[in-house]
Amino acid sequence: MGALPPRAHADFLVLGGGIAGLTFALEVAEHGSVLVLTKRERSEGSTNYAQGGIAGVLGDDDRLELHVQDTLVAGAGLCKRDAVEVTIREGPDQIRWLQSLGVNFDVTEGDKLHLTREGGHSRRRVAHVKDTTGREIERVLLEACDARGIRIVEGQVAVDLLTSGRVGLGGPNRVLGAYVLDRAVGEVATVTSRVTVLATGGSGKVYLYTSNPDVASGSGVAMAYRAGAAVANMEFFQFHPTCLFHPQAKSFLVSEACRGEGGILRNAAGEPFMARYDARKELAPRDIVARSIDAEMKRRGDDCAFLDMTHLPKSFLLEHFPHIYATCKEFGIDMAVQPIPVVPAAHYQCGGVVVDLNGRTTLPRLYAVGEVACTGLHGANRLASNSLLEGLVFGRRAAQQAIEELAQNRGPTPTVPDWNPGDALAPEEGVVVAHNWDEVRRLMWNYVGIVRTVKRLERARTRLSILRAEIREYYWQYRLTPDLVELRNLADVAMLIVECARQRKESRGLHYLLDYPAADDRWLRDTVLTRGDLE
Ligand SMILES: Cc1cc2nc3c(=O)[nH]c(=O)nc-3n(C[C@H](O)[C@H](O)[C@H](O)COP(=O)(O)OP(=O)(O)OC[C@H]3O[C@@H](n4cnc5c(N)ncnc54)[C@H](O)[C@@H]3O)c2cc1C
Repeated sequence: MGALPPRAHADFLVLGGGIAGLTFALEVAEHGSVLVLTKRERSEGSTNYAQGGIAGVLGDDDRLELHVQDTLVAGAGLCKRDAVEVTIREGPDQIRWLQSLGVNFDVTEGDKLHLTREGGHSRRRVAHVKDTTGREIERVLLEACDARGIRIVEGQVAVDLLTSGRVGLGGPNRVLGAYVLDRAVGEVATVTSRVTVLATGGSGKVYLYTSNPDVASGSGVAMAYRAGAAVANMEFFQFHPTCLFHPQAKSFLVSEACRGEGGILRNAAGEPFMARYDARKELAPRDIVARSIDAEMKRRGDDCAFLDMTHLPKSFLLEHFPHIYATCKEFGIDMAVQPIPVVPAAHYQCGGVVVDLNGRTTLPRLYAVGEVACTGLHGANRLASNSLLEGLVFGRRAAQQAIEELAQNRGPTPTVPDWNPGDALAPEEGVVVAHNWDEVRRLMWNYVGIVRTVKRLERARTRLSILRAEIREYYWQYRLTPDLVELRNLADVAMLIVECARQRKESRGLHYLLDYPAADDRWLRDTVLTRGDLE
């Protein structure tokens, strides 16, 4: 709580307070000072909204190789096997660590974990707390941070990374901290650190329809790119097949577990349609389900599809999906007696800031963990419930590496200049920001969505170039506001997605390009961008 002074320092600066950032913070807490910053309230992030659960080899009939195999199949040839193996091998212990902190996952008789099955998983392996798993994990992690005296300051928007290159210090370019805008006060603080961790989550807000909370505006990827770190595979954006379709329901997700437990997708005429698109029907991986819904809606001109759970007993729905049941009810839909109207929405960023098996980016002293990172676990498509797992495993691995790095880096912290607002004027024309924000998200939805074409990608690129130039001009003329910072990041991330998508001349995993509808193994490699590649 509280505000930041104009200059602050921490051994470990953690940008983001979701599962990845808090796991990192807890692991390093005994080894140096830790400062966690969050953009809005401290619990606000995707972690808090995760419903389905966290995947791990925890059932008697399950084996590590099976989870590895399912992950590799979903990733469509682009997963890094070592990242997959490490995550899946270390996952169960990390889930038990969460239990030891106080996460009460649902259990069956005999105190065995109740495991659900989700699309793409060959076994039941998703541990969960009813349908509010993320909220419980976030609550417990925050409590654990409080108990250890870890400082978390909310309402702090990291604007840019502080690099030695930027401030004119010699030697290889390295990260020295971040400039941070205080939401309430409107001032930019200079925060120096020995290790900086991006744990800023994803970028769903780059699309008009998304399941993500407002904080998911791609700051981490944009800041890392601008600072000179490599970013990869941004074309692989996962669309969740089933967001509640209701004018007042903002980004409410109807969990995959609903299909796992028998939910049937129907079109507006009441016909089940998944069998026409994939033999696995409702249990096909989510990209196939999302594309099928999109195709079915476009074929019939429907506004939405319907998820039918009415054949399941009401008691079962209340027991397993109390949150979804209650939320639908608030919007006048009783899922026990009527199908839930749903549409696909941008959900998960599979690419991100390139990291190694210990969370290190290509820029010295900068780590990235959680959704912001591209570890190689997801490849071209994420298997459901592998992302909380990734945040947990890589949060800890990065922490171990950072502790070692800190031990070798105890020298004095270089002096860096404060943020210079120059002659920046008080912001006017809020309409410019609002308009450009809307335009970016709309054009990404229309041109760079579930199904893409070369022509639409080119159009998106042209439009984004103009918007980015306008935003840049505005950015240097006016004093910073959180909306302006986020708009700049959104536009940069949008361009990174478009550029990656333009480069990949095939369809693979989540990237579906009508001009090249098949996978082509000449493109069986990551799409990597570094500073300068967008200009
Ligand atoms: C509705 C929904 C349901 C999901 N369900 C599941 C599921 O069942 N299982 C699963 O495995 N995954 C699920 N996911 C995905 C998963 O929740 C996320 O991938 C994961 O929680 C990301 O964790 P994180 O720690 O990387 O980031 P987040 O939890 O998103 O946290 C990001 C943090 O970064 C902060 N931040 C962002 N930008 C800045 C900035 N510029 N300055 C300072 N702070 C900043 C935010 O304030 C926040 O604290 C779901 C996602 C959503 C949206």
